[in-house]
Amino acid sequence: MGRSERHTDSESHSGASVNGTSEKKHKSKNGRNKKRNHDDDNNDTFNTASHSLAVKPPNGNAERRSSVSKPARDFRDMPSPSPKKKKRKTSTAAIVAPIPEAAESPITRSPSPVIDFDGLSRPSLGTRERLEETDAQKEERMAKMKGAVRTLLECVGEDPDREGLLATPERYAKAMLFFTKGYQENVRDIVNGAIFQEGHNEMVIVKDIEVFSMCEHHLVPFTGKMHIGYIPSNAVIGISKLPRIAEMFARRMQIQERLTREVANAIMEILKPQGVAVVMESSHLCMVMRGVQKTSSSTITSCVLGCFERKEKTRNEFLSLIGVNRR
Ligand SMILES: [Zn+2]
Repeated sequence: MGRSERHTDSESHSGASVNGTSEKKHKSKNGRNKKRNHDDDNNDTFNTASHSLAVKPPNGNAERRSSVSKPARDFRDMPSPSPKKKKRKTSTAAIVAPIPEAAESPITRSPSPVIDFDGLSRPSLGTRERLEETDAQKEERMAKMKGAVRTLLECVGEDPDREGLLATPERYAKAMLFFTKGYQENVRDIVNGAIFQEGHNEMVIVKDIEVFSMCEHHLVPFTGKMHIGYIPSNAVIGISKLPRIAEMFARRMQIQERLTREVANAIMEILKPQGVAVVMESSHLCMVMRGVQKTSSSTITSCVLGCFERKEKTRNEFLSLIGVNRR
Protein backbone atom coordinates (compact mmCIF):
# COMPACT_ATOMS: atom_id res chain seq x y z
CA MET A 1 0.00 0.00 0.00
CA GLY A 2 3.01 2.23 0.10
CA ARG A 3 1.69 4.22 2.98
CA SER A 4 4.85 3.95 4.94
CA GLU A 5 6.74 5.86 2.27
CA ARG A 6 4.63 8.88 2.84
CA HIS A 7 5.43 8.99 6.45
CA THR A 8 8.12 11.32 7.51
CA ASP A 9 9.59 12.01 10.80
CA SER A 10 7.88 15.14 11.91
CA GLU A 11 10.13 15.40 14.90
CA SER A 12 13.07 16.20 12.72
CA HIS A 13 12.62 19.93 12.86
CA SER A 14 12.46 19.94 16.59
CA GLY A 15 15.84 18.32 16.73
CA ALA A 16 19.22 19.91 16.99
CA SER A 17 19.50 23.33 15.48
CA VAL A 18 22.85 22.58 13.95
CA ASN A 19 22.20 21.45 10.42
CA GLY A 20 24.68 18.67 10.34
CA THR A 21 23.45 17.12 13.52
CA SER A 22 19.85 17.30 12.61
CA GLU A 23 20.46 15.78 9.21
CA LYS A 24 22.38 12.92 10.62
CA LYS A 25 19.72 12.32 13.17
CA HIS A 26 17.07 12.33 10.52
CA LYS A 27 18.83 9.90 8.25
CA SER A 28 19.27 7.33 10.90
CA LYS A 29 15.72 7.81 12.05
CA ASN A 30 14.39 7.40 8.56
CA GLY A 31 16.25 4.21 8.14
CA ARG A 32 14.86 2.87 11.30
CA ASN A 33 11.35 3.95 10.48
CA LYS A 34 11.40 2.32 7.10
CA LYS A 35 12.29 -0.96 8.65
CA ARG A 36 9.72 -0.61 11.36
CA ASN A 37 6.96 0.38 9.01
CA HIS A 38 7.63 -2.64 6.91
CA ASP A 39 7.20 -4.90 9.84
CA ASP A 40 4.05 -3.17 10.90
CA ASP A 41 2.36 -3.19 7.55
CA ASN A 42 0.02 -5.94 8.54
CA ASN A 43 -0.85 -4.49 11.87
CA ASP A 44 -3.25 -1.77 12.75
CA THR A 45 -2.48 0.99 10.30
CA PHE A 46 -2.09 3.54 13.03
CA ASN A 47 0.97 1.86 14.40
CA THR A 48 2.93 2.64 11.27
CA ALA A 49 2.98 6.33 11.95
CA SER A 50 6.43 7.40 12.93
CA HIS A 51 5.60 10.29 15.15
CA SER A 52 4.62 10.64 18.71
CA LEU A 53 1.07 11.66 18.05
CA ALA A 54 0.05 8.70 16.05
CA VAL A 55 -2.72 6.96 17.78
CA LYS A 56 -1.50 4.76 20.49
CA PRO A 57 -3.14 1.70 21.84
CA PRO A 58 -5.81 2.40 24.44
CA ASN A 59 -3.34 2.14 27.27
CA GLY A 60 -1.53 5.22 25.94
CA ASN A 61 -4.56 7.35 26.64
CA ALA A 62 -3.51 9.18 29.69
CA GLU A 63 -0.25 10.28 28.21
CA ARG A 64 -1.66 11.60 25.00
CA ARG A 65 -4.39 13.66 26.59
CA SER A 66 -2.39 15.10 29.41
CA SER A 67 -2.49 18.58 27.96
CA VAL A 68 -6.24 18.64 28.25
CA SER A 69 -6.04 18.74 31.98
CA LYS A 70 -3.52 21.55 32.11
CA PRO A 71 -4.91 24.86 33.30
CA ALA A 72 -5.29 27.79 30.96
CA ARG A 73 -2.13 29.84 30.72
CA ASP A 74 -3.88 33.13 30.81
CA PHE A 75 -5.45 33.64 34.19
CA ARG A 76 -8.29 35.50 32.51
CA ASP A 77 -9.33 32.24 30.96
CA MET A 78 -9.81 30.64 34.29
CA PRO A 79 -13.44 30.13 35.15
CA SER A 80 -14.69 32.94 37.36
CA PRO A 81 -18.21 33.86 38.35
CA SER A 82 -18.75 37.07 36.45
CA PRO A 83 -22.41 37.98 35.96
CA LYS A 84 -21.65 39.96 32.84
CA LYS A 85 -20.21 36.94 31.08
CA LYS A 86 -23.05 34.82 32.28
CA LYS A 87 -25.45 36.70 30.06
CA ARG A 88 -23.31 36.33 26.99
CA LYS A 89 -23.14 32.64 27.56
CA THR A 90 -26.82 31.93 27.33
CA SER A 91 -26.89 31.25 23.62
CA THR A 92 -24.43 28.44 23.94
CA ALA A 93 -25.67 27.12 27.24
CA ALA A 94 -27.32 24.24 25.47
CA ILE A 95 -23.95 23.06 24.29
CA VAL A 96 -22.89 22.33 27.81
CA ALA A 97 -23.43 18.72 28.42
CA PRO A 98 -24.57 17.88 31.89
CA ILE A 99 -21.19 18.13 33.53
CA PRO A 100 -21.27 18.39 37.30
CA GLU A 101 -18.73 21.22 37.32
CA ALA A 102 -20.87 23.25 34.98
CA ALA A 103 -23.40 23.74 37.70
CA GLU A 104 -20.85 25.29 40.01
CA SER A 105 -19.32 27.64 37.46
CA PRO A 106 -21.75 28.33 34.65
CA ILE A 107 -19.05 30.36 32.93
CA THR A 108 -17.11 27.35 31.88
CA ARG A 109 -18.70 25.03 29.44
CA SER A 110 -16.34 22.20 30.10
CA PRO A 111 -13.59 21.31 32.51
CA SER A 112 -11.14 21.29 29.62
CA PRO A 113 -9.04 24.35 28.87
CA VAL A 114 -9.46 23.58 25.20
CA ILE A 115 -12.39 25.93 25.10
CA ASP A 116 -12.43 27.23 28.64
CA PHE A 117 -13.92 30.65 28.84
CA ASP A 118 -13.94 30.96 25.11
CA GLY A 119 -10.90 29.13 23.89
CA LEU A 120 -9.14 32.34 23.08
CA SER A 121 -5.93 32.41 25.01
CA ARG A 122 -4.81 28.89 24.67
CA PRO A 123 -2.05 28.17 24.05
CA SER A 124 -0.63 31.64 24.35
CA LEU A 125 -0.40 34.32 26.95
CA GLY A 126 -0.85 37.45 24.91
CA THR A 127 -3.82 36.60 22.75
CA ARG A 128 -6.43 38.35 24.79
CA GLU A 129 -4.30 41.48 24.80
CA ARG A 130 -4.18 41.28 21.05
CA LEU A 131 -7.93 40.99 20.71
CA GLU A 132 -8.74 43.74 23.17
CA GLU A 133 -6.03 46.22 22.28
CA THR A 134 -6.78 49.86 21.60
CA ASP A 135 -5.78 51.69 18.44
CA ALA A 136 -2.76 53.12 20.20
CA GLN A 137 -1.67 49.70 21.33
CA LYS A 138 -2.22 48.40 17.84
CA GLU A 139 0.09 51.05 16.46
CA GLU A 140 2.67 50.26 19.07
CA ARG A 141 2.53 46.58 18.18
CA MET A 142 2.91 47.38 14.50
CA ALA A 143 5.90 49.65 15.10
CA LYS A 144 7.57 46.96 17.17
CA MET A 145 7.01 44.34 14.49
CA LYS A 146 8.25 46.62 11.72
CA GLY A 147 11.39 47.30 13.70
CA ALA A 148 11.96 43.60 14.16
CA VAL A 149 11.59 42.86 10.46
CA ARG A 150 13.94 45.72 9.64
CA THR A 151 16.48 44.21 12.00
CA LEU A 152 16.07 40.85 10.30
CA LEU A 153 16.66 42.39 6.89
CA GLU A 154 19.81 44.09 8.15
CA CYS A 155 21.04 40.88 9.72
CA VAL A 156 20.72 38.86 6.53
CA GLY A 157 22.87 41.46 4.78
CA GLU A 158 20.23 43.54 3.10
CA ASP A 159 19.74 47.26 2.92
CA PRO A 160 16.28 47.90 4.39
CA ASP A 161 16.30 51.36 2.83
CA ARG A 162 16.54 50.25 -0.76
CA GLU A 163 13.40 50.83 -2.76
CA GLY A 164 12.14 47.28 -2.99
CA LEU A 165 12.36 46.73 0.73
CA LEU A 166 11.03 50.04 2.00
CA ALA A 167 7.53 48.82 2.72
CA THR A 168 8.49 45.25 3.43
CA PRO A 169 8.57 45.49 7.24
CA GLU A 170 5.02 46.77 7.28
CA ARG A 171 3.82 44.25 4.72
CA TYR A 172 5.42 41.41 6.59
CA ALA A 173 4.03 42.55 9.93
CA LYS A 174 0.54 42.66 8.46
CA ALA A 175 1.00 39.29 6.82
CA MET A 176 2.21 37.78 10.06
CA LEU A 177 -0.79 39.13 11.91
CA PHE A 178 -2.99 37.52 9.30
CA PHE A 179 -1.14 34.21 9.50
CA THR A 180 -1.82 34.22 13.21
CA LYS A 181 -5.33 35.61 13.22
CA GLY A 182 -6.51 32.50 15.01
CA TYR A 183 -5.34 34.11 18.24
CA GLN A 184 -8.16 36.58 17.90
CA GLU A 185 -10.86 34.01 17.33
CA ASN A 186 -12.63 31.74 19.73
CA VAL A 187 -14.66 28.61 19.55
CA ARG A 188 -17.76 30.15 21.06
CA ASP A 189 -18.11 32.79 18.36
CA ILE A 190 -17.31 30.33 15.61
CA VAL A 191 -19.87 27.76 16.68
CA ASN A 192 -22.40 30.49 17.44
CA GLY A 193 -25.03 28.05 18.59
CA ALA A 194 -25.02 26.02 15.37
CA ILE A 195 -25.61 22.74 17.10
CA PHE A 196 -28.74 20.89 16.10
CA GLN A 197 -30.50 18.01 17.79
CA GLU A 198 -31.11 15.89 14.74
CA GLY A 199 -31.16 12.44 16.24
CA HIS A 200 -28.50 11.59 13.69
CA ASN A 201 -26.03 8.91 14.71
CA GLU A 202 -24.12 8.13 11.53
CA MET A 203 -20.62 9.16 10.65
CA VAL A 204 -20.14 12.68 9.33
CA ILE A 205 -16.95 13.51 7.48
CA VAL A 206 -15.56 16.70 6.04
CA LYS A 207 -12.43 15.89 4.13
CA ASP A 208 -9.72 17.77 2.27
CA ILE A 209 -9.99 20.90 4.38
CA GLU A 210 -7.13 23.11 3.28
CA VAL A 211 -4.99 24.17 6.17
CA PHE A 212 -2.32 26.85 6.33
CA SER A 213 -0.42 27.01 9.55
CA MET A 214 2.88 28.23 10.95
CA CYS A 215 5.57 25.98 12.33
CA GLU A 216 6.34 27.39 15.74
CA HIS A 217 9.88 26.07 15.62
CA HIS A 218 10.92 27.87 12.44
CA LEU A 219 8.20 30.47 11.78
CA VAL A 220 7.68 29.13 8.30
CA PRO A 221 4.42 27.71 6.97
CA PHE A 222 3.25 24.19 6.81
CA THR A 223 0.30 23.50 4.60
CA GLY A 224 -1.85 20.55 3.88
CA LYS A 225 -5.19 18.94 4.24
CA MET A 226 -7.20 17.99 7.23
CA HIS A 227 -9.95 15.41 7.39
CA ILE A 228 -12.45 15.57 10.21
CA GLY A 229 -14.98 12.92 11.06
CA TYR A 230 -17.33 12.40 13.94
CA ILE A 231 -20.19 10.19 14.97
CA PRO A 232 -22.90 12.30 16.59
CA SER A 233 -24.82 11.33 19.61
CA ASN A 234 -27.98 12.93 18.28
CA ALA A 235 -26.54 16.44 17.98
CA VAL A 236 -24.82 17.59 14.81
CA ILE A 237 -22.78 20.72 14.28
CA GLY A 238 -23.24 23.01 11.29
CA ILE A 239 -21.02 21.41 8.70
CA SER A 240 -19.17 24.62 7.83
CA LYS A 241 -18.10 24.99 11.44
CA LEU A 242 -15.63 22.14 11.18
CA PRO A 243 -13.35 23.88 8.66
CA ARG A 244 -13.67 27.07 10.67
CA ILE A 245 -12.56 25.38 13.85
CA ALA A 246 -9.63 23.88 11.95
CA GLU A 247 -8.81 27.33 10.59
CA MET A 248 -8.89 28.93 14.02
CA PHE A 249 -6.35 26.54 15.48
CA ALA A 250 -4.26 26.50 12.30
CA ARG A 251 -3.84 30.28 12.34
CA ARG A 252 -1.69 30.18 15.41
CA MET A 253 1.85 29.11 16.03
CA GLN A 254 1.57 25.36 15.83
CA ILE A 255 3.13 22.04 15.42
CA GLN A 256 1.11 19.66 13.33
CA GLU A 257 0.70 17.16 16.14
CA ARG A 258 -0.87 19.69 18.47
CA LEU A 259 -3.02 21.23 15.76
CA THR A 260 -4.51 17.84 15.00
CA ARG A 261 -5.16 17.16 18.65
CA GLU A 262 -6.63 20.56 19.41
CA VAL A 263 -9.16 20.32 16.61
CA ALA A 264 -10.23 16.86 17.75
CA ASN A 265 -10.46 17.90 21.39
CA ALA A 266 -12.40 21.05 20.61
CA ILE A 267 -15.02 19.16 18.61
CA MET A 268 -15.25 16.58 21.35
CA GLU A 269 -15.83 19.31 23.93
CA ILE A 270 -18.31 21.34 21.95
CA LEU A 271 -20.45 18.55 20.58
CA LYS A 272 -19.98 15.61 22.96
CA PRO A 273 -20.29 13.16 20.07
CA GLN A 274 -19.68 9.43 20.27
CA GLY A 275 -16.28 9.99 18.77
CA VAL A 276 -14.05 12.27 16.74
CA ALA A 277 -11.29 11.49 14.29
CA VAL A 278 -8.92 14.02 12.77
CA VAL A 279 -6.22 13.21 10.27
CA MET A 280 -3.90 15.78 8.83
CA GLU A 281 -1.37 15.40 6.04
CA SER A 282 0.90 18.28 5.33
CA SER A 283 4.14 19.50 3.92
CA HIS A 284 6.48 21.51 6.11
CA LEU A 285 8.53 24.25 4.48
CA CYS A 286 11.08 23.91 7.24
CA MET A 287 11.68 20.39 5.98
CA VAL A 288 11.28 21.08 2.29
CA MET A 289 13.39 24.23 2.04
CA ARG A 290 16.05 23.51 4.63
CA GLY A 291 17.33 20.69 6.76
CA VAL A 292 16.72 17.37 5.06
CA GLN A 293 15.15 18.99 1.95
CA LYS A 294 12.74 16.17 1.34
CA THR A 295 10.54 17.97 -1.14
CA SER A 296 7.92 15.31 -1.65
CA SER A 297 7.53 14.09 1.86
CA SER A 298 4.37 14.65 3.76
CA THR A 299 3.72 14.26 7.42
CA ILE A 300 0.61 12.55 8.65
CA THR A 301 -0.79 13.00 12.12
CA SER A 302 -3.97 11.67 13.58
CA CYS A 303 -6.02 11.97 16.70
CA VAL A 304 -8.95 9.67 17.38
CA LEU A 305 -11.23 9.99 20.35
CA GLY A 306 -14.22 8.11 21.70
CA CYS A 307 -15.61 5.35 19.52
CA PHE A 308 -12.95 5.93 16.87
CA GLU A 309 -10.37 5.04 19.43
CA ARG A 310 -12.25 2.07 20.84
CA LYS A 311 -13.48 0.46 17.64
CA GLU A 312 -11.06 -0.52 14.94
CA LYS A 313 -13.92 -1.05 12.52
CA THR A 314 -15.15 2.52 12.92
CA ARG A 315 -11.64 3.86 12.57
CA ASN A 316 -11.05 1.86 9.41
CA GLU A 317 -14.33 3.02 7.94
CA PHE A 318 -13.22 6.60 8.49
CA LEU A 319 -9.78 5.98 7.05
CA SER A 320 -11.09 4.30 3.94
CA LEU A 321 -13.66 7.06 3.42
CA ILE A 322 -11.02 9.76 3.56
CA GLY A 323 -8.75 7.65 1.36
CA VAL A 324 -5.70 7.57 3.58
CA ASN A 325 -5.78 3.81 3.86
CA ARG A 326 -5.56 3.28 0.13
CA ARG A 327 -2.44 5.20 -0.67
ZN1 LIG B 1 9.62 23.61 11.55
